[in-house]
Amino acid sequence: MKDANMTKPCIICVAITGSLPTKENNPAVPITVAEQIESTQEAFEAGATIAHCHVRDDEGKPTSDPERFGRLKEGLEKHCPGMIVQLSTGGRSGAGQTRGGMLPLSPDMASLSVGSNNFPTRVYENPPELVDWLASEMVKYGVKPEIEAFDLSHILKAADMFKKGQIAETPYVQFVMGVKNAMPVDRDVFEYYIKTVHRLFGEDANWCAAGIGAHQITLNDWAVSSGGHARTGLEDNVRIDRDTLAPSNAALVQRVVDLCDKYERPVATWQQAREMLNLKVPAVA
Ligand SMILES: [Zn+2]
Repeated sequence: MKDANMTKPCIICVAITGSLPTKENNPAVPITVAEQIESTQEAFEAGATIAHCHVRDDEGKPTSDPERFGRLKEGLEKHCPGMIVQLSTGGRSGAGQTRGGMLPLSPDMASLSVGSNNFPTRVYENPPELVDWLASEMVKYGVKPEIEAFDLSHILKAADMFKKGQIAETPYVQFVMGVKNAMPVDRDVFEYYIKTVHRLFGEDANWCAAGIGAHQITLNDWAVSSGGHARTGLEDNVRIDRDTLAPSNAALVQRVVDLCDKYERPVATWQQAREMLNLKVPAVA
């Protein structure tokens, strides 16, 4: 069935900021809300249709401040009409329920981690009661979760939550590979992830993949050539090649557009992306 999925338009997600990269790492990392809106608009024009967003405080540190998320969401809806806004609930491990404080804004989507794992220098904590609470808030506010699969068990946990009604619709899973101390970039595991998603959620189930650092382009290539959707952006990787910093989020999006051309996958328009993910079409656009 892989072939049928290869005719699907490819949804490009741009993870614009994240909670770690700084201006010192790459001056193109957008930190203020105004910078984030400008950077996302360029990425949207380049072909991205989902904006995965974190926000930072005045010192550039990660925050879950609903007011900042609200300003960003409003700016994106105005300057990138139709683009899918996805807010991160994962950026501040250990912060408890404040991680979901922006969900009452009812963004189109929010990221949802359903289990814990190690990160480069710490434990990425997602205790069961917090996962249940975040999922219930998403159901309450009509927010579609994107399941961040740092491990195979996270895909099976999402299936279990779907069966129990904790996730309203067929889970949209993102495979994250290449985080140090979590799942490495491994082609056999990648293939098994795809097989598992199709077994649990159907042969035409949509999925996405992200690779960290230099692995970003590898996972982009694997995802586009395997009928999946692709995530890129400065959150995951600040370089365009070994020696060169990426000039913008848009430049990283362009690399995925080039891969879509190479593998003859159309790049999804925002309308197609919303249709595939069963998201409402905003009246404004
Ligand atoms: Zn993120």
